[in-house]
Amino acid sequence: MRAKWILFLLLFLCIGCGNRKNDIKIETIIEENRHYKIGINYPLTHYQKLDDSIEQYIHTSYQNFLKQQEKEITLTTQNELNIDYTFYQNKEMISITLFKSENEEEEIKTFNYAYKKDCFISLEKFVSSEDVYNIANTLLFKRFGNVLDLSLLKKNLHTSLFSIDEENLYLYYPPYSLSNHYLDTMIIDIPLQKLNIETEEVKRVHHEMMSAEVDLEKVNSIIDANKKVVALTFDDGPSPYTDEIISILKENDAVATFFILGNKVKNYAAVLKKSLEYGNELGNHTYNHKWLTKLKDEEIKKQMQDTQDIIYETLGYTPVLFRPSYGSINQHVRKDIALDVVLWNIDTMDWKYKSTSKIITRATANVEDKSIILMHETYERTKKALPEIIRILKEKDFVFVTISELKQIESLRKYNG
Ligand code: ZN
Repeated sequence: MRAKWILFLLLFLCIGCGNRKNDIKIETIIEENRHYKIGINYPLTHYQKLDDSIEQYIHTSYQNFLKQQEKEITLTTQNELNIDYTFYQNKEMISITLFKSENEEEEIKTFNYAYKKDCFISLEKFVSSEDVYNIANTLLFKRFGNVLDLSLLKKNLHTSLFSIDEENLYLYYPPYSLSNHYLDTMIIDIPLQKLNIETEEVKRVHHEMMSAEVDLEKVNSIIDANKKVVALTFDDGPSPYTDEIISILKENDAVATFFILGNKVKNYAAVLKKSLEYGNELGNHTYNHKWLTKLKDEEIKKQMQDTQDIIYETLGYTPVLFRPSYGSINQHVRKDIALDVVLWNIDTMDWKYKSTSKIITRATANVEDKSIILMHETYERTKKALPEIIRILKEKDFVFVTISELKQIESLRKYNG
């Protein structure tokens, strides 16, 4: 794998950067002795902020490697550190990727820098991340479907490592971030044309579109995109009923999505961890159930971020979904929210109806393929209704999926016409 990379990088250096030699300066470090071998190439651009970040990364990698050598001098093998790069510049931005390999370990670092504005940019800055990750998800299944770990995919699909060139947006997934069985970095390239990028940040070049048909047979072993699916969702938890609710789901081979409140997370760390292990998904439902449409921008962002932070700190998990409390949302709120907003189309009204049988009827009577059912995990009657709801929907041949799985299935079906 490494040999292939080096060949590819050499080609890229010769062809890709041939006409830009004047803009950038290539720094090289080559050192070799009995114990180790270092080969580093990296670009410097005369943009101070960018150069500082690159040099800092190179310097740290180099120092750490040398420190490691002092600790373990082996006579039989020669340790190796290699760093190479790709470089792309258009009218607005510079995109640099550093590929590091240290003995058997790979690491990728990306720098995307808007030089006119003197700042680093994130993916969301110039492209709809929803589109990107829908396509990425499909391509990942197509190329790595046999090794992907669904729970890791859910957690890590939104990678911060990306770069662009004339033709493609590249997303990088480090070893073990999406699979426990795949030792190399997973790289996805998405033709820019496919993303309808309208901003000036990226120069669009017409290029033949890559076919992205999905190998359904491979995908089917993970999720059957042809089955009727339904997503159960529970809001306002966690609560004293959560533990029983996730047990009922597990016994029935079902999963659900829980939109939880930040202020309740700490008290239910263990049960939330178990819920994730059982294959359920957690979404953000604000910190303490505020009417977001009545809040200022900073307050909305704080409601969101505090909840993301406490979930991450407590569970090491980053939600990608958001459901506004009271379903209270408008354009103003939407623009403060980076997560996917998920509402519902079947409302059990379990906060209002005290009768279990009424909740069961409301949950099951009008369910269709891809329905999203709204319930609350804060009522005992909802917990009591759950086994019967699952039984009836199973009888109607529905498969239970989380919201992220539902989105995967939608994009798979879209790709397959
Ligand atoms: Zn709520």
